[in-house]
Amino acid sequence: MIITTSRLLRDLAANSLHPPDHSRLAAPIVAAILLTLPVQGRSQFQSLSTSVLNTDPRAFLACLKNQKQPVSAELRAAAVASFEASLPDGGEITDLSQAERRKLAALSRVLLIHQRDSVYEIRVLALPQAAVGFYARAVLWISRPALDLLNTEQLQGVVAHEIGHDYLWEETRAAQQGKDYPRLREIELFCDAVGMMTLKSAGLSASHMLASVERLADFNQPRFGTPLNAESYPSLAQRRTWARQVIRWAAGKY
Ligand SMILES: [Zn+2]
Repeated sequence: MIITTSRLLRDLAANSLHPPDHSRLAAPIVAAILLTLPVQGRSQFQSLSTSVLNTDPRAFLACLKNQKQPVSAELRAAAVASFEASLPDGGEITDLSQAERRKLAALSRVLLIHQRDSVYEIRVLALPQAAVGFYARAVLWISRPALDLLNTEQLQGVVAHEIGHDYLWEETRAAQQGKDYPRLREIELFCDAVGMMTLKSAGLSASHMLASVERLADFNQPRFGTPLNAESYPSLAQRRTWARQVIRWAAGKY
């Protein structure tokens, strides 16, 4: 997992906004070293976000796409089979309305940016919470409350965030297994940046990414309280601050 993250950071450093300035270039390199150490706390969050902000925003998505590990047909089939086997009877909803189908069809606009439109299986689940998730780099699942609650652009926003997890899949899994909450929060913020840049690249407003997170939280919080995995996520305040930084960076103002 460390190798992939370091490689990603090296690629981001290679696309630095400030290549002639060695002191600036040093930041992503130091960050890559930091990520190889079992450092707990904010330094990891700062290292990955610093790397994002030091990258030329015009090169960011291309840089990520160069990192992409292909999902083989076998891996995909195995992931889908294991996902289906884990569902209870009636867990998947297939009798979708026209409006719901239209929203799902509109996801191709963001998936196409990453050549993922024909890779992910999209499934709608009968869950009480409004939630969207990504399974084994092959299945994007959307609960029906999320499908109905979010408008088309917000659904595109949350799916654009999930695509970020495809690039850091091994890191996400390792951090989950190791209960490395600082790293999980760092990964979430990185995926927020991927989501926002994906929306921008698709000709949509980057603001839909965070709007979707806020809308899901507004639905879930009063009904289900604080989620058990809350420690894995940055606070909404941190995500808003980071989103403002990403928007400034993407506009060339950082
Ligand atoms: Zn996430």
